[in-house]
Amino acid sequence: MKENNNISRRNFLRTASLASLGLMVAGCASDGGKEQSAASAPRRKGAMTYRVNHNTGDTVSVLGFGFMRLPSVNGRAAANDDSPLDQEEINRMVDEAIANGVNYFDTSPAYCRGLSEAALGEALKRHPRDKVFIATKLSNFDPSQHSHEESVAMFNRSLQYLQTDYIDYYLLHVVGSGSFKGLHDRFLDNGMMDFCKEQRAKGTIRNLGFSYHGDVDCFLDFLERHDRGEVHWDFVQIQLNYVNWEHPAEPSDRNITAEFLYNELAKRDIPVVIMEPLLGGALAKVPKPVAAKMAQRRPEESVASWAFRFAAQPKVLTVLSGMTYMDHLRDNLATYSPLEPVTAEDHEFLMRCATEIVENKSVPCTSCAYCMPCPYGIDIPATFRHYNTALNDDLVLDGRDPRYAEARRQFLQGYDKAVDPLRQADMCIGCGKCVSHCPQGIKIPAELARINDYVQGRRNKIS
Ligand code: SF4
Ligand code: SF4
Repeated sequence: MKENNNISRRNFLRTASLASLGLMVAGCASDGGKEQSAASAPRRKGAMTYRVNHNTGDTVSVLGFGFMRLPSVNGRAAANDDSPLDQEEINRMVDEAIANGVNYFDTSPAYCRGLSEAALGEALKRHPRDKVFIATKLSNFDPSQHSHEESVAMFNRSLQYLQTDYIDYYLLHVVGSGSFKGLHDRFLDNGMMDFCKEQRAKGTIRNLGFSYHGDVDCFLDFLERHDRGEVHWDFVQIQLNYVNWEHPAEPSDRNITAEFLYNELAKRDIPVVIMEPLLGGALAKVPKPVAAKMAQRRPEESVASWAFRFAAQPKVLTVLSGMTYMDHLRDNLATYSPLEPVTAEDHEFLMRCATEIVENKSVPCTSCAYCMPCPYGIDIPATFRHYNTALNDDLVLDGRDPRYAEARRQFLQGYDKAVDPLRQADMCIGCGKCVSHCPQGIKIPAELARINDYVQGRRNKIS
C-alpha cells in the first residue's frame, strides 16, 4: 500500500478537488454559525493521510467513516436505540468529515435497524458522487434472504437507498458465520458470487471484497479461490486492533489472531480494510492504570488515538470508525491528519497494554446489536457495556476492598440507569437464541449469568 506521497495525476486531481470541496463545505457550515471550521478542529497537525489502492488507483483516506453507530434523535447510538436517526446531525458530521479529507464511507443494509444506507444516501447526495467512495454489503444473513432473487433485490435496494448507480467497494458480509453451509447458502450455491463478478465487469461494483468473522477455514477458502484465480479479491475487511493482534477474538478456542489474518492478506498484497479498531469502543475506555501509562507517553493524545494509530498498519487501505458524535470524528481526524505510525517501541508497549486489558475480564462486546432483539427483552449490549465500564472505572471490587461500599452503590445505581430493570441480565432464560448472531462468538447467556451473579451478590450485600 502506498502512502499519499506517490499518487497518480488522476488521483491528485481527485484529492485536490476534494480539498477545495472541503473548504467550500466548511465555509457553509461556518455561515450557519453552528460548526467549527476545519482549521479549528482539535490538535490537527496537518493534512489527512491517504493510501493508494493498487487495484484501481483510488486514493483513500486512512480514516473511513463507518455508518454502524449513527446518532438517533435522542443523542444515542441508533444500534442501541429505537428512535429515528438524526439526519441533520449525520449530515453535519459527513460535511465535517469531507471538509477534512475523509472520502470513504461504509454502510450495510443491516446497520442501524436497516436505516443506515438511506441515511448515507441522503448525506452524500449533497456532495459530488465522484469525490467519495461508497462501501456497502450483501448482508443476506436471514435464510429468507438467501435466494438469488432476494439477494439481488438487496443489492438493487442498496443502489436505490444510496442514490447511486455504482458501488465503489462491495463486500460479501460476515464470511465465516455459519461455517461452510453459510458460505454455500449465501454466496456460492445461489450464484451471488458470480453475480457480483458480473457487476464488477460492468462497473456497477468497482471493487469486490468480503468481510470476515467466524470460521477461519472459510476465510482461507476464500483466499485459496483468489490464489487459484477463481475470484480476484480487490480488498478484504477484517477485525484488527492491538488487543486482538496477539489475543484471539472470542471464542478464543478459534485461536485466530488479527496478526495472522493481516499477514495472510499482506503476503497476497490484498488491500486491507479494518473494522473494530476500538473493539466496539472498549479501547476508548481502557482500565485506569493502562490509560495512565498512555497519558504519560503521549499526554496530548486520547486513549482512542493509540488504537487508531495501531490499526493503520502498512497494508491497510482505510480504518473504519463508527462515529456517533462530532467529538469522535474530530479526535479521529486529529489522529490521522497526518498519521504518525506506531514505532517498534509503541508496538511493544501496546502489546503489554493488551495483556493488562485481557486480564481485566471484560466482555468483548462491540455493541453491534446483531444479537438483538432478544425475544425476552434483554438489552444485551447495554448490560455488557455497563459491566465493562464499571470494570474500567474500578467499580467491580470484592468486599474486602476499602472502596467496596461506594463502588457497590455506584455500580448498582449505574446499572439501573443504563439498563431498564425489566431488560437486565436476571430476565435471561438462557434459551441461546442470541448466540449464533454474535460475530464475536461471545457465550452470551453464560456472560449474562456471570454478570447477574455479580449483581445479585451486590444487591444482597454479599462480597
Ligand atoms: S439467551 Fe438470554 S439474552 Fe439470549 S436470546 Fe435467550 S433470553 Fe435473550
Ligand atoms: S453480544 Fe455480540 S452480537 Fe450482541 S452486541 Fe455484543 S458483540 Fe454484538
